[in-house]
Amino acid sequence: MIDIVWLKRDLRLTDHAPLLHASHTSDPLVLLYIIEPMLINDPHYDSRHWRFIWQSLQDIQDQLDGVNAKLHIFFGDAVTVFNTLHHKHGIHAIYSHEEIGIEVTYQRDQAILEWTQAHQIDWHEYQFGAVIRGAKHRRDWDKRWKTVMRGPLANTPLERVNWCALTIDPELQPPQSLLNDWQRVDTAFQLGGAKQAWQTLDDFHHQRGIDYYWNISSPLNSRKYCSRLSPYLAWGNISLREMYQTLLENWNKTGWRRSLIALASRLHWHCHFIQKFDNEHRMQWQPVNRAYHDFPYHNANSVECQKKLAAWQQGKTGYPLIDASMRCLIATGYINFRSRAMLVSFLCHHLMVDWRLGVTHLAKLFLDFEPGIHYAQFQMQAGVVGTHTIRIYNPTKQAEEKDPSAEFIYQWLPELHALPTPLAHRPWLITDMEQQMFDFTLGSDYPKPIVDIDKTGRNARELLWEYRHRPLVKKESRRILRQHVKPSKKKSSTSLSKV
Ligand SMILES: Cc1cc2nc3c(=O)[nH]c(=O)nc-3n(C[C@H](O)[C@H](O)[C@H](O)COP(=O)(O)OP(=O)(O)OC[C@H]3O[C@@H](n4cnc5c(N)ncnc54)[C@H](O)[C@@H]3O)c2cc1C
Repeated sequence: MIDIVWLKRDLRLTDHAPLLHASHTSDPLVLLYIIEPMLINDPHYDSRHWRFIWQSLQDIQDQLDGVNAKLHIFFGDAVTVFNTLHHKHGIHAIYSHEEIGIEVTYQRDQAILEWTQAHQIDWHEYQFGAVIRGAKHRRDWDKRWKTVMRGPLANTPLERVNWCALTIDPELQPPQSLLNDWQRVDTAFQLGGAKQAWQTLDDFHHQRGIDYYWNISSPLNSRKYCSRLSPYLAWGNISLREMYQTLLENWNKTGWRRSLIALASRLHWHCHFIQKFDNEHRMQWQPVNRAYHDFPYHNANSVECQKKLAAWQQGKTGYPLIDASMRCLIATGYINFRSRAMLVSFLCHHLMVDWRLGVTHLAKLFLDFEPGIHYAQFQMQAGVVGTHTIRIYNPTKQAEEKDPSAEFIYQWLPELHALPTPLAHRPWLITDMEQQMFDFTLGSDYPKPIVDIDKTGRNARELLWEYRHRPLVKKESRRILRQHVKPSKKKSSTSLSKV
């Protein structure tokens, strides 16, 4: 009989409760990752994710080499893989983290639960970060978050584990054509693995992080000064607790406090949003605030809607900061928070395209795609939660404020290189004479603006406020606050920004 530690989005060997608990039993232990075709075909996933996953798996294998152990990577749907292993070797127990994921992984976990019950196999699941599966309220949630984050790390002495090495059935071998693609290293993207995660974190705490707070919103500087730990957290190369405890170790460094406070809040938000998704996973399909179900977006099948969506997806809207952000994201898998919020606002407010038509496009592009944060943030920025400040970003104003010398714009829109700054921010103002001078033709070298944002911004604002005053929106907002926000002593809406 064997025990199995099933790795999913927790691709590390440190602070890993399932591994620690499994190591306490006397059964031979198989460390398993399953490459699931349903995820390869899922619209949220892209080969950039699989390359990162593959690098993370290689990193685990490198660590296991030191103790002469093996990571088993099988291909197939999870029930089939477990069934095959059970018939050949007999599974005593499976250990894994709870996955707070998209609909297909939830359904897969349900199928695994039924299968384990039918075969009298114990499946031990461990909490993901500080997220409480099925929590009914937020009383004491913050206190618990702190307790979990300050708690002891679940580290396993790898040399003491009773590792087991199985031979791989040919039918469970990952196809070579996939591996060829995933083994390709693209250095424009962050590389996966615990070693890379720790190097990134060390580098943040030794150099970059001191100026974090002042650079979060700059599309260019955020790339250097933000922690850049998001893909490592999303695929579990490092645990949130490891990251938080490293932050605490650095807490008293002179000149760092402001940045570390800002980072600590974000680590808290990380679990807050995933908790919210766990409680209302229907948000993958529907607005959290049900009263926005009939928000009058363009008809998804109309030519107009399709044209606008395609322009947004390709970074060809005629608004330089929108297009530079999208093209940078396509090429590198990362943009900062403000740029993400602005892309969503542009799609849903200025183009009036339904958030559901854009949400998987960005998931596919974000190397750090984390379902709970992604869906909750997407809806929040689209303005369909009804409890936050309404933010309709003006991409030209954002460009002038956050990229004043247009360095980021020039980097991602080479066609604007010749234009000096006021024009690089507002190319539509170019005169005929300037077009000749700079050898640039608006509408052919770079698109004319796809919409007039003064008009679209005004319309969206009126519409969003009209909705905000609807009784059903208010009723739903109260429900959302009751469910997802810590009860406050004062009955006011001041904690809205935390939802
Ligand atoms: C529409 C939209 C979609 C997003 N989708 C994702 C996603 O799929 N995956 C993801 O990790 N983040 C997502 N974010 C949140 C945020 O933009 C990224 O976490 C951040 O930009 C990652 O860069 P960093 O690691 O350098 O962040 P830092 O600023 O260094 O923050 C450290 C960590 O805190 C967490 N964090 C930071 N900001 C937030 C936030 N606003 N909400 C929740 N957690 C946060 C992340 O885990 C991040 O890695 C999204 C934001 C928006 C507006």
